Amino acid sequence: AYEPMLVLLVLVGLFGAWGAYHWMSLPRAAGEVIERARARGEFVPYLQPLVSPLSGRWLGAEVLMRWHDGDHVLAPGAFIAAVEQSGCLGAITRDLMAATTTGLAGARLPEGFHLAFNVTATQLADPALPGMCRALRERLGDAVVPVLELTERETFDLAGHGGQLAELFALGVELAIDDFGTGQSSLSYLSELHVHTLKIDRAFVDSIERDSLGKVVLDAVIELGQRLGLKLVAEGVETAAQRDYLAAAGVDVLQGYFFARPMPLSDFVRQLPAHA
Ligand code: C2E
Ligand code: CA
Ligand code: CA
Ligand code: CA
Repeated sequence: AYEPMLVLLVLVGLFGAWGAYHWMSLPRAAGEVIERARARGEFVPYLQPLVSPLSGRWLGAEVLMRWHDGDHVLAPGAFIAAVEQSGCLGAITRDLMAATTTGLAGARLPEGFHLAFNVTATQLADPALPGMCRALRERLGDAVVPVLELTERETFDLAGHGGQLAELFALGVELAIDDFGTGQSSLSYLSELHVHTLKIDRAFVDSIERDSLGKVVLDAVIELGQRLGLKLVAEGVETAAQRDYLAAAGVDVLQGYFFARPMPLSDFVRQLPAHA
């Protein structure tokens, strides 16, 4: 009478062990794939222009990661979670900063050109970051302003990084809050963190031609940013109507497919003179 029970227990045990093995080894396998791709230089920077609403000039660029795997170019939605799990995000961020610095070294960048990188709170604490920002300004000139974009929910982790932040600010680095309006945080960090820029999330820009509630929030965010003396960037601008609305509302900088899609560094450098 015990035997079927025993067999069942053994089977459950074996199945469990098999499952646990795969559960543990899958992320590790993914990590190896990411690390190999990094070593081959497959993570590359794409640049999307930051545009003046009035003149249409390119005032800067956001650096967006792409995985260039043979013939395929993948956007981060497909792989960023695997990169974060792999523990390689810090190294890849440093690679992107270095590649962008090198790629722009020959370009004539306009005065005050903002070069924005996406970083997590962990990366912001990376002791190599100030050196990377210093190298960027040494190679590209003091006219270039390095910007670090953080999402709203991560700003809470920053309290302990005051020393590093002070060092970055001394180097002329600015902070931007990404996807602003999508978090549910208290706004106290805006003054505590010495944030320079709010990036208004695409969802609110979308609402300009559609829903009036989203538009109410958009107007409120714009007014908040203006009252706090922050620079406002609107992302995901896809139509002339959106551009006109945001320009009339006094948003400082626009970004979106209406102006240009993210593009390889070499394309950006080639197109810049016509828009500078
Ligand atoms: P994000 O920082 O909010 O970047 C803006 C995203 O909106 C980009 O997607 C960009 O290609 C897209 N976009 C720009 N204009 C338009 C538009 O007019 N319409 C639409 N529909 N989309 C537009 P992307 O490049 O796929 O990046 C997705 C996210 O991945 C980024 O969102 C950012 O959170 C993350 N990411 C990208 N590069 C890096 C990186 O180097 N490091 C880290 N930590 N995260 C990154
Ligand atoms: Ca961003
Ligand atoms: Ca964003
Ligand atoms: Ca967004």
